[in-house]
Amino acid sequence: MAETSSATTAFVDPHYIQARPSLISKVRRADLVICSGAQLEIGWLPVLLQKANNPDVMPGSAGYFEAGSFVLRMNATSNTDRAQGDVHPQGNPHVQTDPHNIAAIAVALGERMAQLDRDNAESYAAGLAEFSAKWDSAISGWEEKASVLRGKRAITHHRSWVYLERWLGIEGVANLEAIPGLPPTTAHLSKLVAQFEDGGADFIIRSTYQDDRPSEWLEDRTGITAVMLPLTVGGTDEATDLFSLFDSIINRLLNASAK
Ligand SMILES: [Zn+2]
Repeated sequence: MAETSSATTAFVDPHYIQARPSLISKVRRADLVICSGAQLEIGWLPVLLQKANNPDVMPGSAGYFEAGSFVLRMNATSNTDRAQGDVHPQGNPHVQTDPHNIAAIAVALGERMAQLDRDNAESYAAGLAEFSAKWDSAISGWEEKASVLRGKRAITHHRSWVYLERWLGIEGVANLEAIPGLPPTTAHLSKLVAQFEDGGADFIIRSTYQDDRPSEWLEDRTGITAVMLPLTVGGTDEATDLFSLFDSIINRLLNASAK
């Protein structure tokens, strides 16, 4: 039986986590560290790994798993100028918002766990097969249910939803953040009012941990529905596991687009 714990929750910004002592001691005892990668955790995971000083989970070892390296990442850029904000030169790291990415990551993770714990390799393979079958049928259900969202236009707080947008055929038309990772400015929000007061967007999406004021402010001035989505499990009451996470995301988008 694997014991798991999470460094982040749906209520905190995953770009910024404190390397607190309890977390350091968990990493010190871990057999496997799983992260998104693509530099999402660049501000805190290297420090955490260094403080924990556990050779089994250092980058390059079998006990270090970057989920984002098993999917094709969007928006990779050669621009590494940090003055441009939280840009992710290795591509957008928020890969969990497309369930097809999760399917690919599950395969890689199942193989990795079998490699780390060879005695139980068969049960990881069986668990993976069971998950993958359920997951594939859930994806078909979500795609059918969300088909009416195709062609909708979204303004998002941060560029956290590019994979979801691509998956469901939603067009990302603007971001509340003028510079990725920095809070939305009044000047930028005013520009968005001018741009969208006569239409051009169907919803304004923010994640659980993000300040609700910018999206509510824009909703008041443009009439475009603001909607909060869980970026990960636990971000809404309904999103209690990966399956209900996508149920919650799609139900909330359908409710918002019906308004
Ligand atoms: Zn980001």
